[in-house]
Amino acid sequence: MAQYTLHLPTSAAPLPAVPQPCYNQAMQGDAPVRFVVDVMLGSLARWLRRLGYDTDYANDRDDRELVRIARADGRVLLTRDNALAARRGISVLLIESQALDEQLAQVVRAFPLPPGAQLPRCSECNTLLQIASPDEVAENVPVYVRRTHDHFRRCPGCGRVYWPGSHWERIRHRLCSLDPTAHDPK
Ligand SMILES: [Zn+2]
Repeated sequence: MAQYTLHLPTSAAPLPAVPQPCYNQAMQGDAPVRFVVDVMLGSLARWLRRLGYDTDYANDRDDRELVRIARADGRVLLTRDNALAARRGISVLLIESQALDEQLAQVVRAFPLPPGAQLPRCSECNTLLQIASPDEVAENVPVYVRRTHDHFRRCPGCGRVYWPGSHWERIRHRLCSLDPTAHDPK
């Protein structure tokens, strides 16, 4: 997905309506599922955040730290490491494929998302995104993006601005196709 960095103060102005997305948060018992992701799966972590999953990821963690976080925070560990996946006392999903689309599909199948309002997070810092109007981001996105997009979100944590892109659309349609109850928000 295309992204652009900006730094704006949080606006209290009314926000415009946006298309309804495919999914809400997946549930783990009575609470939304949360993940901690192995260092080798950075792309998967960023896409899970975009889909709205609370995803803890950093690229400098060893196995001991990952297990500690999974236990302490009650997060499901996503890894491609068989030995790490065999650790006791934590919830683990062993990711089978090296392909991003298949990895996302596996996670969504394991933790299916009911249709409803999506709450996407920043792919870089995991903060819930806020809706931003075209006027609010007008000076912070390229001209061609302003001309071709009406819906934006921005991260109150790091200031990044997001808008739908071709890669995003491809992933979203693929995920929608996994769930017959999901609807295309466009
Ligand atoms: Zn951010």
